[in-house]
Amino acid sequence: MRTGGAAIVLAERYQRFRRDARAFCREVIEPRATRHDETGEFVKDNVQAMAERGWLGIPWPKELGGMGLDYQSYVIAVEEVSRVCASTGLTLAAHTSLGTYPIYKFGTTEQKEKYIPLLSRGVYLGAFGLTEPNAGSDAAGIESSAKKTDQGFLINGSKRYITSASFAGTVIVAATLDRKLGRKGITCFIVETKTPGFSVPSVEHKLGLKGSDTAELVFEGMLVPFDSVLGKEYDGYRIFMETLDGGRISIGAFCLGMAQCALDTMITWFQDREMTQLESSALADVAVQVEAARLLVYNAAQIKDTGVRVDKECAFAKLFASEVAIRACGTAIDAIGPLAITDDMPVARAYRDAKLGEIGEGTSEVMRMIIAKDVIKEAKEAC
Ligand SMILES: Cc1cc2nc3c(=O)[nH]c(=O)nc-3n(C[C@H](O)[C@H](O)[C@H](O)COP(=O)(O)OP(=O)(O)OC[C@H]3O[C@@H](n4cnc5c(N)ncnc54)[C@H](O)[C@@H]3O)c2cc1C
Repeated sequence: MRTGGAAIVLAERYQRFRRDARAFCREVIEPRATRHDETGEFVKDNVQAMAERGWLGIPWPKELGGMGLDYQSYVIAVEEVSRVCASTGLTLAAHTSLGTYPIYKFGTTEQKEKYIPLLSRGVYLGAFGLTEPNAGSDAAGIESSAKKTDQGFLINGSKRYITSASFAGTVIVAATLDRKLGRKGITCFIVETKTPGFSVPSVEHKLGLKGSDTAELVFEGMLVPFDSVLGKEYDGYRIFMETLDGGRISIGAFCLGMAQCALDTMITWFQDREMTQLESSALADVAVQVEAARLLVYNAAQIKDTGVRVDKECAFAKLFASEVAIRACGTAIDAIGPLAITDDMPVARAYRDAKLGEIGEGTSEVMRMIIAKDVIKEAKEAC
C-alpha cells in the first residue's frame, strides 16, 4: 500500500505511524519552514511540538519516558519531518541518535534514569561534541583533554560544528585522558551545559539548514563529576564510533526526506502538464533513486532493530541517500525551471540544505573508505 510517497510495503503499524507523522508534519512543521529558513531562527517551536508528541524519545522504552517504538519508526519520523523542514529533521536526528542513544546504549542505570526521561520529554535537548578544529574525519586526533583530579575530571578544549549546542541541556563530549595513546586515550563524558567552564562562544551561519543550530563549544577548566564518564574510561573511541553508525541511518533518513521533497515538487508540477520525453525521464530517474535510497535506509534501520552492528549498511544508507538528495533536488530544479529556485517551491531550500548531508557524521569520502574496508573484510571472512 502506498502512503504519501512510500511504496515499500511496511507492516500496518509503520504505515499508521507514517500517516500520523505526515499529517502532523503538514499541519505543524511545514507552515513554519520558510520562516525558519529566512530568519535563521532556531526551530525551537518545532522541538516543543515534537516533545509534546513524545517524538524526542521515539525508540526508548516507556519506563524511561520514551515512546517504546523502534528505529524503523524513528527513521520514518526523521524522513517525514525532513521532507517538509530539514532543519527540524536534523535537530531531531542529532538529539536522538547522537545526544541520547549513547546514554541509552552505554550509560549506567543511574545515568539512564537521570537523563533519558529529561531528554525524551524535551526538558533537555541532547548534543554530541566530537569534531574539533584538528579532528574531524580523523576523530582519533582529538585534543580536548580530561585530567583526573580528586574532585572529578577537569576538561579543557574546544569543539566545532556541534548541532543544537547553543540550546542543549547535555552534550556527550569526547576528550582524551592521554594523547600519546591516540584513539585508546579517548573517554566520553555526559556534560551538563550548565557546568561552570562550559561556553558557546559562536554560532555558524550556514549555506542551508538555517533553522538548525551549529555552534562552537569551549571548555575552560570545566570540572565534571566522576559519574559523568559514559561507559568506561579509555573506551570513548568505540562508543562514539558505534554512536555514529546509528547516526548515519538517521542522516540517511534526513536526506531521504529532502529527496522525497524534490520528488513531491516534481509530481505537483507535472501532474497536470503534458511532459516532454526529457521531463518524464527526469521524473522517473528521481522516483527510482528515492525508492532505492529508502530501501537502503530502511534496511539499515531494520538491521539495527535486531541489535546487530551495521557499519557497512549505515554507510551505504548515508552515502547513497545524501548523494541522491542533492541529485534529486538539482534534477527537479532543472526540469521545472526558474520557478523552482524561488521561495514558491520548497525544493530550492532543500537543495541548499542537502549539501550539508554529505558532510555531517562522516563525509562521502569517509563513507566510501568504510564500505571498501568492510567489503574486503567480508570477502576474506567468507574464504
Ligand atoms: C551541519 C553539520 C552538523 C554537524 N554536527 C556535528 C555534531 O553534532 N557533532 C560533531 O561532533 N560534529 C558535527 N559536524 C561535523 C562533521 O561531522 C565534520 O565536519 C565531518 O566529520 C568532517 O570533518 P572536518 O570538518 O574536520 O573535515 P576534514 O576531516 O578536515 O575533511 C575535509 C575534506 O577532506 C576529506 N578527507 C579527510 N580525510 C580523508 C581521507 N583519509 N581520505 C580522503 N578524503 C579525506 C573529507 O572527506 C573532506 O572532504 C557537523 C557538520 C555539519 C556540516
